[in-house]
Amino acid sequence: MGNADEKIIVVESGRCSWGKCIFCSFSKKPEVPEASFERLKKILDKALTEKVGVLKYLNSGSFLDENQIPEKFRDYLVERCVALGVNELVVECLPEHITEDVLEELAKKRKGLKITFALGLEVADDEVLRKIQKSFDLKTYEKTAHVLRKFGFGVRTYLMANLPHVKNPKKSLEQSVEYALKLSDSVAVINTFPYGFSPLFKMWVGGVWHPLDKKEFEGICKKYKNNAVVEFFFDDYIAYPRFVDFMRENIVGATSACLNHPYFNVWQEYLVRFMKRRIQRNMRFSSRAHTENHTQNL
Ligand code: SF4
Repeated sequence: MGNADEKIIVVESGRCSWGKCIFCSFSKKPEVPEASFERLKKILDKALTEKVGVLKYLNSGSFLDENQIPEKFRDYLVERCVALGVNELVVECLPEHITEDVLEELAKKRKGLKITFALGLEVADDEVLRKIQKSFDLKTYEKTAHVLRKFGFGVRTYLMANLPHVKNPKKSLEQSVEYALKLSDSVAVINTFPYGFSPLFKMWVGGVWHPLDKKEFEGICKKYKNNAVVEFFFDDYIAYPRFVDFMRENIVGATSACLNHPYFNVWQEYLVRFMKRRIQRNMRFSSRAHTENHTQNL
């Protein structure tokens, strides 16, 4: 969750260059918003008007991929942060776009602004990384973290709890946190929840995989509850789950077959476990500067 001195700007911009992670919808959607300087500038100017301690600029893919974030906008964002006196800018990026040349250039422009790169490692296990179709392995993650440090950039690592293909979610999470802590300034543990167009959403509907509820999530994370550099996100990244499409095709009427249909059960579970909290959250966020409705677009 964000704090009072933190602003989160979530912007979809072009397609992620990888687009294959099985829990993610980005790049699998039929349409994605254009990655133009003008559009990104307009969104930023509206959202960022005063100093904040930490600006998390999340562009659903890679900040250093010019097909998603034009270099001109990258420079503009850094300039705006410097001009407003923002302390830290956090961006996301795949390792394949993090090169020494680009970091060297960026380092010249930051003028005292701390820039942290969030790396979506998800799990410290090469076999699982391959199965969930991440684009990189542990060796690449380690190399990237070292290069970022070499140029004075911060490292934040995303981990996902309860991924499919993980045999023991608690043990796997603990191993992943210990591993990530060695190379990161901060670690974010996210409860795995599939986006609507992702293969994992189909696995959930098909009964092959199941998300954790709050108690289960807190149970596997409890070892790090008081660790100041590990943050937890239970349902911050849930998205509109596309039940309508599934329901329309498979649930017709209140027959016993329909009421016991797996799609119907998943839909009910979504409402019971996540909707109440999501409504509360939306009410709270309506008074905050959220630039785009992230979840509606997933
Ligand atoms: S999780 Fe990130 S890297 Fe993977 S497909 Fe989605 S946006 Fe791309």
